[in-house]
Amino acid sequence: MTTPWGLPDFDAHEEVHFLTDETCGLKAIIAVHSTHLGPAAGGARFWHYAKDDDALTDALRLSRGMSYKNAMAGLPLGGGKSVILANADRTKTPELLHAFGKAVDRLGGRYITAEDVGINVSDMIEVARSTQYVAGLPNSSGDVGGDPGPHTALGVFLGIKAAVKRALGKDSLKGLHIAMQGAGSVATGVALHACAEGAKLSIADIDAAKAKKLADRAGGEVIAPDEILALEADVLSPCALGAILNDKSIGELRVPIVAGAANNQLATDEDGQRLQARGILYAPDYVINAGGIINVCTEYLGDGDASLVRERIQGIPVRLEEIWTESKQSGRDPAAVADAMAQRLIGRG
Ligand code: NAD
Repeated sequence: MTTPWGLPDFDAHEEVHFLTDETCGLKAIIAVHSTHLGPAAGGARFWHYAKDDDALTDALRLSRGMSYKNAMAGLPLGGGKSVILANADRTKTPELLHAFGKAVDRLGGRYITAEDVGINVSDMIEVARSTQYVAGLPNSSGDVGGDPGPHTALGVFLGIKAAVKRALGKDSLKGLHIAMQGAGSVATGVALHACAEGAKLSIADIDAAKAKKLADRAGGEVIAPDEILALEADVLSPCALGAILNDKSIGELRVPIVAGAANNQLATDEDGQRLQARGILYAPDYVINAGGIINVCTEYLGDGDASLVRERIQGIPVRLEEIWTESKQSGRDPAAVADAMAQRLIGRG
């Protein structure tokens, strides 16, 4: 029998909860990786998985990523994540969201949820009817809170600029070509920031209508989803799903920089070394995509306003610089350097 403890992605997770509510069709997993620095915060993903095992792998990997992300962003939060297993029709009802909220509530604040792929602000409003342990709720103008996507996008944009400065010696994205994988919430924000600075964009999404809409808005070109990873460009910005950087795809990359929002971009730890061996500068995903959780944390903890959120997000390129500098000095790849820094911060060094 395989137990969660024996799984390759199990990393001394403090709690893993399997939720079922047959009356509304809820099947979900909540994984609490670490509460060393504070309550475990991380979004809820709504996704149709081919196999239940894939959902568990996602929950384990994403929750550890949140521990690392929150620690590296300097936040007083631990790491957790939930996945709601959508049926093939992706039916999402208020009853299902309430049942999920009740499950979050039963954890008594050890896990705080928010939006992730497939979950939007109105879904979180439903979840919040069953639990107070929710962030990412709508805000009135000037307040902290709301959709984390634009904040994540700002951090990714600043991270791309830092990578461009380091790898290409340029202060601006003007005239540079960015290949965007995904045309969702974060990709849209990154694309709009980048096009405002004069970047040229190529955009791919499995939802062709979304890719076209963003390309029209940002003045970019639509690329087929199976061509984006091998496109010749200055930056590849993965803003869709994880595990897209593997032995094969890294061999085909034609970019000097990979910097994007998607969680768990590296299929394995060796892929960080593969990128380094190819001379490609990598921005560790959970460092560059921390803008949303910075906003969520500031909202949830009530310890600052919108200008503090912005100030904290401006710390993202500074943290990336630290990682790249240590990577250059030690010879270890940036992902390994970031992991070691994060582990030290959550008391597992
Ligand atoms: P989203 O659901 O708004 O967008 C994701 C997009 O990716 C969708 O349009 C989807 O059709 C597309 N997609 C899926 N598979 C694809 C493929 N193989 N090729 C091309 N496109 C594909 O999600 P989002 O909020 O923009 O998040 C994007 C990524 O960033 C996710 O990995 C998420 O975990 C990560 N992230 C998001 C936030 C946030 O604040 N929203 C924060 C940190 C990390």
